[in-house]
Amino acid sequence: MASECNGSSELKLPEIKFTKLFINGRFVDSISGKTFETRDPRNGDVIALVAEGDKEDVDAAVMAARVAFDHGRWPRMSGFERGRIMMKFADLIEEHKEELAILESLDAGKLFHFNKMFDIPGGASMVRYYAGAADKIHGETLKCSGEFQAYTLMEPIGVVGHVIPWNFPSVMFFTKVAPALAAGCTMIVKPAEQTPLSALYYASLAKEAGIPDGVLNVITGFGPTAGAAIASHMDVDAISFTGSTKVGRLIMEAAAKSNLKSVSLELGGKSPLIVFNDVDVDMTVNLAKGAIFFNKIDKNQYERVLSYIAHGKREGATLLTGGKPCGEKGYFIEPTIFINVEQDMLIAKDEIFGPVMSLMKFKTIDEAIEKANNTIYGLAAGIVTKDLNVANRVSRSIRAGIIWINCYLAFDQDCPYGGYKMSGFGRDLGLHALKKYLQEKTVITPIFGSPW
Ligand code: ADP
Repeated sequence: MASECNGSSELKLPEIKFTKLFINGRFVDSISGKTFETRDPRNGDVIALVAEGDKEDVDAAVMAARVAFDHGRWPRMSGFERGRIMMKFADLIEEHKEELAILESLDAGKLFHFNKMFDIPGGASMVRYYAGAADKIHGETLKCSGEFQAYTLMEPIGVVGHVIPWNFPSVMFFTKVAPALAAGCTMIVKPAEQTPLSALYYASLAKEAGIPDGVLNVITGFGPTAGAAIASHMDVDAISFTGSTKVGRLIMEAAAKSNLKSVSLELGGKSPLIVFNDVDVDMTVNLAKGAIFFNKIDKNQYERVLSYIAHGKREGATLLTGGKPCGEKGYFIEPTIFINVEQDMLIAKDEIFGPVMSLMKFKTIDEAIEKANNTIYGLAAGIVTKDLNVANRVSRSIRAGIIWINCYLAFDQDCPYGGYKMSGFGRDLGLHALKKYLQEKTVITPIFGSPW
């Protein structure tokens, strides 16, 4: 039974090489000496004890990143040179693909083949994509009014904090780290406490590739301690966060109360899939299955999802299938479908982040648009139809950061990703993401000598 829910059940635990904080190019214990357990979500077994970073460790990492930014080579070397080192980093990621895919499966409960075919090579591709952009970052020449000419310089924003979630540990790591590296920033990454291992492995590969000490630091630990210390740090110039809307608010509050660091937030979503009646049913069923039933979860999430399922039943939605734990070990839940769902039900409004699908009917295009927009979120939406006019109209009317037409969850490093409304602001991926890690400086000079 368990193997029906979990395709990675045959994997053996590899040697876990990296479990300490990575600060200034070295793996070190946390100052407190504390560690925490990271578990295999398939069976709840402890995989490794990992250093638990806290405020003092964040201080040390920020200091290393500060020195590397203010005095180090990375922001000062040519974009071409940074790009070359990043290409080496990408090669190393691919060389270690197999081991990383196993590690990620065990730590995050994600399917091994997915990791090996998509998440890990996808990370390497992102590094290459931004490596190629590193020497093409430039400002513009401005005409001004005649007496003066001006130009802009695009400069790295400084020390960046990246706080990332558990659902795609590798993809998230590179989504944040690759553009920030290309821009010439130095950084501290805090992976999710559920999935700390791959980030530490990547830190070791970054060093091997030649990324100078202090440029990329990894602090493993918990959100309210290590994460909060990054968000409120006076010497962190920008924070890029992906996670829940609740924590996004805390990050923004901490930034406002400390040094007004630049903030970008990629938060929760409640992304509708709007299916019109002209579609190929088999294709649509496959697409809908892939949209909601593909990722895997941990213990807290497991309990949360089960409580949403109970809520759905109490609120009067009809459980068509699923709704129960899957297997005797691990944190897996059967694919679950509710029908007769009303707009004001919790399962229709909240982000569940689990294999639970809520089906609602609509009669007109306007009704579909209204229902799709009836959420505080605006991350993504899918449209399934053969009618181009319908697809165009609906895609322009949905207030969400990405619209998938006749597909779902299609990502590419070239396609910006981020939210409208309470799904956050700022964009990851694409060349736009570089902007989060750059400052624009204007330089003005008189054309005919100083008028003063
Ligand atoms: P999810 O629900 O997807 O796990 P969270 O928002 O809880 O998302 O967590 C995403 C990341 O934010 C994790 O790395 C977590 O440790 C971190 N985090 C949680 N609480 C805080 C906080 N108060 N301040 C900063 N980071 C936090």
